[in-house]
Amino acid sequence: MSRTDWATMALVVFLSLAAAGPVSAQAAPMAERMTIVTVPSRAVRGSVVWLYARPAGEPDTAVTLDGSAAEEPLHFERLADGGFRSLLGIPLEGGDTFPVTLRLSTGAATDTAPVALAVGQPEHARERLTVAPRYAEPDSASRVRIEGEVAQGRAVSRGAHDTPRLWSGAFRRPRPSRVTSTYGAAREFNGAVTSRHLGTDFSGRPGAPVRAAGRGVVALVANFYLAGRAVYLDHGAGLVTGYFHLSRVGVATGDTVVAGQVIGGVGRSGRVTGPHLHWIARYGGITVDPMSLFELGAP
Ligand SMILES: [Zn+2]
Repeated sequence: MSRTDWATMALVVFLSLAAAGPVSAQAAPMAERMTIVTVPSRAVRGSVVWLYARPAGEPDTAVTLDGSAAEEPLHFERLADGGFRSLLGIPLEGGDTFPVTLRLSTGAATDTAPVALAVGQPEHARERLTVAPRYAEPDSASRVRIEGEVAQGRAVSRGAHDTPRLWSGAFRRPRPSRVTSTYGAAREFNGAVTSRHLGTDFSGRPGAPVRAAGRGVVALVANFYLAGRAVYLDHGAGLVTGYFHLSRVGVATGDTVVAGQVIGGVGRSGRVTGPHLHWIARYGGITVDPMSLFELGAP
């Protein structure tokens, strides 16, 4: 089922606010009286969504909001209506609720509220692949190399929490071409289910342009064992996208790129069965369906 299908099944997100610690006898804690919704309204596992939270009462510029979920900080922006908005990355694995902790502060006092956000479960395809044995069973030296490269990617993702939001327009596809493999597909390598496909694959001839999905800073240009030639873009406010298996890279670390700018070409570097673009998105350390970026709209 595509992201668009999920959106048409739009349901209002009902949230359960649980009291955090002892409840004051005089008044319910401020954080319990917040209105909280997500966009899209039906949040599914393995996606990034907007989390909107609006304290009760008149807009008050003395009020600030922060929070965390799945050990990732949230980056709330103040809105004109007195509410706040942050991106929220929802891990693929887990149950039908996702715990989010919100901290509402007036300067004088801080309320903490745990929120159990209702989340849907996505449906996944199954794919059978046959690859060269060197890739199906990496030797110990390759495994060490892979671990180091995974750590480099994670460092980029953590760094995005320290970058202000750099994008403003809606995200766009890195390729106009056909999607050949979707996020979350169960993968069988040489007959055994070993992993899930945690990105979106786009078709393309070698050298065909790969474009930045949104404005950001080139955080890493690498040549990895699995990902091949790869570009990671830091879009700020916790969000990163990555473009793998490239034939060429046309940007350098530290460059600012705009949405739609060509950053490289489709290739077959790294672990691939043929030329294609493998596109990923992360909120901090949480790898989400990059196609969910399109449903964020233009903030
Ligand atoms: Zn892929």
